[in-house]
Amino acid sequence: MILKDKINTLKGIGPKKAEIFAKYGMDTLEDMLYFFPRKYEDRRRETPISELETGKDYLFAGKVISKRYGGNPYKKNTPLMLLVSDGTANIEIIFFQGRYIANLLQVNHTYTFYGRVSSNFARLQCVHPEFHEKGDAGDVRGILPVYPAVSGISQNEIRKLQVQLKSLYPCLEEWLPSKIVERYRLASPAYAIEHIHFPTDGRQVLSSKYRLIFDELLTLEAGLFYIKSDKPQEMEGIQITGDVEPFIQELPFQLTDGQKEAWKSIERDLCAEKAMARLVQGDVGSGKTVVAEMAMYAAAKTGYQSVMMAPTEILAKQHGASLAADFAKHGIKTGLLYSSMKSAEKREVLEKLETGDIQILIGTHAVIQPDVKFKNLGLVITDEQHRFGVNQRKLLAQKGKNPNVLVMTATPIPRTLAVILYGDLDISQIRTMPKGRKPIKTTLSDLEHRNQVYDFVKKQIKDGRQAYVVAPLIEESEKVDAKSAEELYEELKDKLKPYAVALIHGNMKQDEKDQIMDAFSKGAIDVLVSTVVIEVGINVPNAAVMVIENSERFGLAQLHQLRGRVGRGSDQSYCFLISKNESDIAKERNEIMCRTNDGFEIAEADLKLRGPGEIFGTRQHGLPELHISDLVRHGDVLEKAKDAAKEIFDEDPKLESKKYETLKMRMKKMFGEDLKLEL
Ligand code: ADP
Ligand code: MG
Repeated sequence: MILKDKINTLKGIGPKKAEIFAKYGMDTLEDMLYFFPRKYEDRRRETPISELETGKDYLFAGKVISKRYGGNPYKKNTPLMLLVSDGTANIEIIFFQGRYIANLLQVNHTYTFYGRVSSNFARLQCVHPEFHEKGDAGDVRGILPVYPAVSGISQNEIRKLQVQLKSLYPCLEEWLPSKIVERYRLASPAYAIEHIHFPTDGRQVLSSKYRLIFDELLTLEAGLFYIKSDKPQEMEGIQITGDVEPFIQELPFQLTDGQKEAWKSIERDLCAEKAMARLVQGDVGSGKTVVAEMAMYAAAKTGYQSVMMAPTEILAKQHGASLAADFAKHGIKTGLLYSSMKSAEKREVLEKLETGDIQILIGTHAVIQPDVKFKNLGLVITDEQHRFGVNQRKLLAQKGKNPNVLVMTATPIPRTLAVILYGDLDISQIRTMPKGRKPIKTTLSDLEHRNQVYDFVKKQIKDGRQAYVVAPLIEESEKVDAKSAEELYEELKDKLKPYAVALIHGNMKQDEKDQIMDAFSKGAIDVLVSTVVIEVGINVPNAAVMVIENSERFGLAQLHQLRGRVGRGSDQSYCFLISKNESDIAKERNEIMCRTNDGFEIAEADLKLRGPGEIFGTRQHGLPELHISDLVRHGDVLEKAKDAAKEIFDEDPKLESKKYETLKMRMKKMFGEDLKLEL
């Protein structure tokens, strides 16, 4: 048996099961060795019933003293209740739909049970435990690995397969330099794999996990180093030195400290010989656009063109209009480009771009199409970067000869993670809000107080404000009992009479959407009922109320983005989260929203609640999937793994030495096509 053998060489795996495992990414025996338990069950010894604590899992044994049904015994879903004693105390064992179980458990017989202990009015209970006749084959003692579910394959089957794989442990050789193994006190690969599957105590699990997490993060960091070294980084950039003072003079406001600070870094980058590669993070409304405008102004004054790419047509148009006005004062010409434009108009823009008549181009992803050619592009900007893939950002930069790159995002990612996600970028944060902004007041409401929320909305409209109402879905769906936007619209039209209510959703035609947005920003519509599609960047300062229906269905980042649509003017703004208050996590999310307006704080909380995978959709950001490590929880290991990876690359920048064969193979496996690694 060797590591590269297919898993159908194992006893008990035929073509059908091999196919199932393949769906879970397991083709070879090695893959299966790296299929790690999700948790462990400590079944080393039985705990006396008198010592059981609620909320924990236990192995305990006891004799069945009595057996009864909690309801009509002839109904198939009637619960079965057993009283079990071991002489130290009693516990109630409950099986819902207990009729199927009843014959398997006899009064006066002794069984072992494994399950989560709870209590009901001081009475100990255990619902649906696993149970065994004392001494039967399943009545094992030890630490039992529990694997992630593989549909159609039982836990016991997986365990048995892992037992067969034990003979492969000697093939797992050390693949890291001994210096690194010693410095970070790493267990050997063979030890780690053996004890992650079959530990006999908790310490073994810890040291095994540490090694495996270290390996995974080292491979990740090595891959990122490799991607970075692949770039013509030292290629000379375009120096931009134009003085922005005249532009600042014309602004109707003072720059905030955060904006000034971000600009200082950008200015330094632009003047430097190396091309700029900078990410500006700033909460919704923190004023990122004006900072980008300053960079574009400087570029124009130095004789270079700039392009700014936005994720939606609505946003591109909004930027197009406001930038055109701002730059007209300075005699700088702007152009707008999006896919649904009339072809004659498009042709004109493309021509002017090539001749240099247009100095600043604003558009959707239409700007990265092949027919878009610049005369002398010096600066590329991506707005709301989190909505684009890494590739789109790169395509944009390829429109010029190593132009300066600025990307902006309102998704405030904690710095530790940003370094990983955007490892090739320098990072600036704008953490101050423009003066005079009142923090948005956020209130949680349950369904009973829903009418009061809309009474309040009416009052605000009467005072001249506008409101957004967000519904999670477009059409009635049986699966999800959320209010659909259409239904909600019908309801609110009536409820909010005589005010003008309009509906906007993703399935509408573009011009229809544009018309509605336009009417809303002009004040012809009082209340805009929308789905989440309309989430980014929209700026209607007079909108002061945001109502989010079924707020429990949204993630924190999304709630924060949505709320950011209000609070853009000088009036007090309000956000109402109408929630059924279902799960704990939904409750916690709502509470965080009520507590703070700081996107960075919210992002940190979101990470803790959900973990990074879900938030970032790692694929989209070009980051590979991780199996055992968690970028947030294992931040300290990440630091060490990064140092170790750096040490390896300092010594052997192309990983040519034979001793890095395994590392290279692991990198290739982790990054796949993203990594053009020669092996
Ligand atoms: P975001 O960071 O979300 O992209 P914007 O750039 O759209 O924010 O700015 C939001 C609003 O704040 C705009 O109307 C803009 O004109 C205004 N603004 C930007 N900077 C300042 C400032 N320093 N003082 C007052 N208002 C500002
Ligand atoms: Mg913006």
